[in-house]
Amino acid sequence: LRIGVPKETAAGEKRVATVPEVVAKLVKLGFAVSVESGAGDAANFADDTYRAAGAEVVPDAAQLWSRADIVFKVRPPTPYEVQLLREGATLVGFVWPAQHPELMQQLAARRATVLAIDSLPRQLSRAQKMDALTSMAGISGYRAVIEAANAFGRFFNGQVTAAGKIPPARVFIAGAGVAGLAAIGTAANLGAIVRANDTRAEVADQVVSLGGEFVKVDYEEEGSGGGGYAKVMSEGFQQAQREMYAREAKDADIIITTALIPGKPAPKLITAEMVRSMKPGSVIVDMAAEQGGNCELTEPGQAVVKHGVTIIGYTDLVSRLAKQSSTLYSNNLLRLAEELCKAKDGRIDVNMEDDAIRGLTVIKEGNITWPPPPPKIP
Ligand code: NAD
Repeated sequence: LRIGVPKETAAGEKRVATVPEVVAKLVKLGFAVSVESGAGDAANFADDTYRAAGAEVVPDAAQLWSRADIVFKVRPPTPYEVQLLREGATLVGFVWPAQHPELMQQLAARRATVLAIDSLPRQLSRAQKMDALTSMAGISGYRAVIEAANAFGRFFNGQVTAAGKIPPARVFIAGAGVAGLAAIGTAANLGAIVRANDTRAEVADQVVSLGGEFVKVDYEEEGSGGGGYAKVMSEGFQQAQREMYAREAKDADIIITTALIPGKPAPKLITAEMVRSMKPGSVIVDMAAEQGGNCELTEPGQAVVKHGVTIIGYTDLVSRLAKQSSTLYSNNLLRLAEELCKAKDGRIDVNMEDDAIRGLTVIKEGNITWPPPPPKIP
């Protein structure tokens, strides 16, 4: 079968779904690979490197889609792209079926098979190698710290120099899931004093192991809402949490917020009042900007200065590290391809008896199979 890799069309999207190194591995699995000319340009992968890896480079999207049995994408397809998808073809990429019911109908009408990488059952240990949500969250956590460091006017690490003694920067991280933990590790490696909080007490040890200090809310309530995710907390907890965050905000030079609750707007953790209490020159990076933001003053997609504090609400943190994110995303898709093509004969078997494959197959030959039954956890 032929795998097609189109150029991403969403504004500002710099990633490409398959990097040249992975093309060579897909060819070894028996697939033919076509890449749209320029697909890797924004991530620094030139057409020639794709050719050298064994791909055919085609001049435009129409040709690419018309030749592909399987399309590897990053972002959900646009209605135009759905029309380009060959009848009965397979699409692999981020789809977010709950947010895109119309897209699901359009894809089903193409009699497509759709493997939504966002719908992978992440709790299966066997699925971890395919978990693009985790690889992308790790990158955005790292990049959030780099953006903060760039906007901050001082060192992260403490220094004693002939020109003066410099204290380390104080970084507070709200939410210690995959992205938050990556941010903790990165900020600690740069030499900052890192403190972090999460409503799920189980992450405390991980915070410490990455060099941070876990700050507890003085209120007894378990924050796990199932599947490793958070729940909406009681009013009493939220009040106690706000008091603690108000104290942390006054002390912090940098705040990075990552708190999300599946299917709900992002919890508002940093109030305008807290921003006002921060030192001039402080920085907030709100990684929840796209889901409404954890800070009341965030403007999604923008960096703004309010009360002397730079508030960064970029929603393209992974695209700002496009070479790295394309590489890890490609590796996740390669692992999926290996699962689908165990015989290494360039064909795929979408085995609905396999929990991991069942979970991410949201449309099978035109039939919507999302949501899946809960996976059997061994
Ligand atoms: P997420 O992006 O949904 O949320 C980010 C973090 O924000 C979570 O840790 C959450 O608890 C926290 N949060 C939510 N509301 C908050 C609030 N009001 N105050 C403070 N913090 C708040 O989560 P994620 O990073 O995608 O992952 C969540 C969990 O899933 C993690 O524990 C992760 O380890 C787990 N996970 C497990 C596997 C696996 O088992 N293989 C794979 C991937 C992720």
